[in-house]
Amino acid sequence: MNVYMYEILEDYQLAGTDAEREEIFSSFCQMIWENPNQRTITDKPLTFHIQPDLLATETGQIFSAYTSISRTVCLSHTNDKDFASLIRQKINNIYTRYFDGNICRNKDYLDLLRVPKKLYFQWLSASRKKDGSWNMSPQELSRTLENTMAQAQLLKEARKRETMNVSWNEFQQTAEHYFRRLFEHYKPLDEFQDSQNLMIYASGWMEDNFCVSYFCRGLDGYFRNYQKKYYGLYNINSRRGITYGRCACGRLFLQNKQRNRRLCDNCRKESRRQSYSRYNQKRA
Ligand SMILES: [Zn+2]
Repeated sequence: MNVYMYEILEDYQLAGTDAEREEIFSSFCQMIWENPNQRTITDKPLTFHIQPDLLATETGQIFSAYTSISRTVCLSHTNDKDFASLIRQKINNIYTRYFDGNICRNKDYLDLLRVPKKLYFQWLSASRKKDGSWNMSPQELSRTLENTMAQAQLLKEARKRETMNVSWNEFQQTAEHYFRRLFEHYKPLDEFQDSQNLMIYASGWMEDNFCVSYFCRGLDGYFRNYQKKYYGLYNINSRRGITYGRCACGRLFLQNKQRNRRLCDNCRKESRRQSYSRYNQKRA
């Protein structure tokens, strides 16, 4: 099966009947959903080993509780070059980014998870060199590691609140809806070249790359707007210069730069209600 994506898109637009068009479209969707590049979630723990002679020490014992820190990951790239695998990868990444609260790819979070290992190697090197560069007491170390893990957990929960609550099935339907728009709006590379005055020597492979990047850019844009709709902020974005803020509760809201807003409407009402009731209690 060596079909090019641009052929599918052109066949769709040239199809003589609706039935023919539907068949082309649904076989495309099937190729994406049944692609072997499925979303796979695995635990890829961060691990290190403690040198046997150091394991019995008090500090070694504290580190031993942190030698394997669980980390949930989802593969974010593929080595396959065919359009179906590439588009499926894009779909997988969009789902991870916007909808899967169990996977946290935040850099600060990942850095926090690496702290125990980093400290262990500092301690190891200081113990070997006996240079006195390690001056953390076991109690301090234990507190530091506990705090670090608690901080990581908080960060993960905050990111989780920022994901939208949408099932995979619902997501698939939305994605297909966007595929449809991309099929309808597709312009072949030669037409595109004419309108942009670009000189590109198109081969089948190149034309396919063009289709894949057209799809990926399109999906990025559609899901960005999807997020705005989800939080009831769509259409307002037609005004330029609007910025969005993220409330601690996870909701996206419109940022008002002058007032430097930090809370979404809901949380603002709630915090106002609380301060009124405190005020009224004092008065009573
Ligand atoms: Zn809020």
